[in-house]
Order: sequence, then C-alpha cells, then structure tokens
Amino acid sequence: MTLPQPATGPGAAGSPATGPGAAARRELVLREAVRRRLLDPEDALLAVFVDLDGVAASVAELHAAFPPEAEALHTFAAKANCLVPLLARLRGLGMGCEVASPGEFAQALAAGFDPARIVFDSPAKTRRELVRALELGAAVNVDNWQELDRVDDLLRAGASASRIGVRVNPQIGGGSIGAMSTATPTSKFGIALADEGNAERLVEAFRARPWLSWIHVHVGSQGCPLDLMAEGVAQAVAFAERVNAELGRRQVEGIDLGGGLPVNFADDTTAPGYADYVGRLRAHAPALFDGRYRLATEFGRSLLAKNGFTAAYVEYTKESGGRRIAVTHAGAQVATRTVFMPDAWPLRITAHHPSGAAKDGGDPVPQDVAGPCCFAGDLLARNRPLPPLEPGDLVALLDTGAYYATTHFQYNSLPEPAVHGFTVDAGGAVHFEPLRRAQPIEELLRPVD
Ligand SMILES: *Cc1c(COP(=O)(O)O)cnc(C)c1O
Repeated sequence: MTLPQPATGPGAAGSPATGPGAAARRELVLREAVRRRLLDPEDALLAVFVDLDGVAASVAELHAAFPPEAEALHTFAAKANCLVPLLARLRGLGMGCEVASPGEFAQALAAGFDPARIVFDSPAKTRRELVRALELGAAVNVDNWQELDRVDDLLRAGASASRIGVRVNPQIGGGSIGAMSTATPTSKFGIALADEGNAERLVEAFRARPWLSWIHVHVGSQGCPLDLMAEGVAQAVAFAERVNAELGRRQVEGIDLGGGLPVNFADDTTAPGYADYVGRLRAHAPALFDGRYRLATEFGRSLLAKNGFTAAYVEYTKESGGRRIAVTHAGAQVATRTVFMPDAWPLRITAHHPSGAAKDGGDPVPQDVAGPCCFAGDLLARNRPLPPLEPGDLVALLDTGAYYATTHFQYNSLPEPAVHGFTVDAGGAVHFEPLRRAQPIEELLRPVD
C-alpha cells in the first residue's frame, strides 16, 4: 500500500494544519466557508472543519515512526472522531479501527473496515457484543476476570478467528488530568498487574488458554508524560516476557500499546510527535522492537485534534460588572470538557470578521467568550485577551478535531452542527466534503412509539 509521504526538511514534522502557515490556511478555509454559506448567521451558526490533508499527513507520520519490520496494526480510536466518512478515509490511509461500544463497532463496519482490523475494547462488553465480535473475527481485548470466564464459555460453543488479548493495568500512576489517567492503582480498566497474586493468576490463565495471545495496555491520554506511558508499556512487555518464559513457548505474540500521545493545545506546533514516543518506547522497552512481537496501536487525539477547528458566530456582546462578554453559538454542546474543566482543557480562540478574515487590528481586550447554553458556566474562555468581538463576527476554536463537536452534549436541545472535511489543492483552491450534516430539529422530535 502507498501511504502519503510527509514533506521532508526542517519544520516538516506535523500536518499542514500545524506549523507555519496553519493560521493562513484556517483563514482561507473560513473565508471560503462563509462564501459558500457553510457558515451563515441564520442557518449555520456554527460548523466544524477537518483538514483531510492534515489527517493524511498525521497518519503518514505515525506509520513512518514505527520500523517497517514491526508489523504494526495502527488503529484509530473511534471515540476521538466517530464520523463514518472520516473513518472510511482513515481506512483508505491504511488505518485499522479501535472501538469501545456497539455504536462505534457499527460505525467501523459501516466505514468498511475489515473486522480483522477492528479492535474491540470496552470495560462493559455484553455477552451479545462478545458473540458478535468473535463471530466477525474482530480482535478482542478482555478487560477483567469475569469477562475472561465469559469468553471461555463462548469459545466452548464455537471457535473464533479473533485474536484475543487481555488488558493489563501496570498501576504506575496518573498524569496531570485524573479523568484521563487509566493506569492508577485503582483504575477501572484492565487487570491490576501489581495487585497481590494477579500476575501469577494471569500467567496460569495464559497457560490454560492457548488462544489468549495478546497483551493490551493503555496508560492514559492527555496529561500523561511520554516516559510514564512508555514505562507502562515496558511493564506490559516485561509481563509478556514472563508469560512466555514460564510457559516455555511463544504464547504472547503481540502487544497492543493503546493510544494516548498528548497533544499541544498551546500553539501550532505538533509536539511531542510519534517519533519522540517511539524513541521513548525504544529506551524503556527495547524488546518491543526486536521482532518477536506483533504490535498494535490505538491513537485518537493525536491524529485528529490539531487537524480540526470549530467556527461559530458571535450573536451579541455585552458588558457585565466591568467584564466584556461575547455570546457565541459554541458552548458546552461542542466543547463539553473545556466548559466543565476549563483548567485541564484550555482552547485557543481566534477572532474573525464576518467575512472569515482574521481580526488582527487593534489592541486585544480581555473578554469572556460564552456559549449559548443556559447555565452561567457555559464559557469557552474567561477574561481572554482578543481583538474586540462584535455581533456577526466569527470565533474559531482551534485543535478541536478530536473529542469536541463529534462527542456532542445535548444540552438545551442544541442540535449537532455540520462537520465539513476539506482539502486545499496546489493552486490554493479549497474543496469541501461533508462528514456530517447538521442535525435537523425534527430529529429531536423523535416519537416515542
Ligand atoms: C481512548 C482510548 C484510546 C485513544 O486515546 P487517545 O488519547 O485519543 O489517543 C486508545 N485506547 C483505549 C483503550 C482508549 O480508551
């Protein structure tokens, strides 16, 4: 398969959506979107734009970071951006798909993924969901002892082509965002490797189950430093080595490293990159790359976040107690984490004229950027210095290609906004392609019978 090659040379790391030129590219897309009424002050109050060239470059960077002999299956964590046309594009770029619910599983199948390139992770898989995954031959990562018993029962009833692994929790601690840290001592995920007796019990579980052949670990997401992630993977690899040594056979064939590469929300540079992470993995877990293990990854945020932005109109501006406030159409419904955990998830915001052109004249003035939801905390930014916003202007929320508008929060019955993919050709022409239509209000009126 031919993968798009990233440009080479200094500053080539990252996608077209990052690095120098990123701001001009966003401005170009916004102007075009206004001109074509993909943004409209009455009909399309907000919309999301996903840089498909950028996504291709990010995927290429991921593939290039791993040595070709590693035989890695790189899957995209669907929860980061679950739109079927986007998933189909990622499939075309050589990705597999990681899913963690029946909905995501259905979306991955609708996007055309071969079930053998789908990885099913979830801490709450039902019996029926497991039956279907095993029938289709999707990879399954078992989360806990009870699920392992369940899989035993199902495999007694019929063989499966699925590669089956078990998720371990190396219990090495969390990063700076508690809700994103999955390898704490008491995390809900996986089998706690350091708990008394668990490692021995798990070795015996492998001995009794020749079909159990992978180990899965996902240390965490945003906020976890690379060395913490790499150390978690190292502990999973050390455990695989122990299983294979004690059983005297190559039973653990593969390591699924999970995702979690953190994203820089502070400016247009991509850092750290996949190559940095692979460097840390080589340092902490050299056995991972010595050819004895097949590999899988499950990156989400790092592939999409910086390749998307959300644009919304300013409806009104006001002043309250000396505070300047711009009321926009983007709030908790599309930026849920930023609104509820503003310190953990700050977003960059840029100000634009109604034409989409950047507003850069005049001194920045501290302003609250508010959303449309009817609760006081619905703020995208507090006291943020920005060019003075006026009604009819646009604001763009940067780095929102993952876990923002595609994980919609249905507060105040606000509908899901449209998502548009775009590419920019060599002549600078912008091509849009729909990834999700705006949700019509009628959809909110679904009858009860
Ligand atoms: C969420 C999740 C991922 C993706 O994490 P990112 O931070 O988006 O890369 C991968 N694997 C599992 C099991 C997850 O829960």
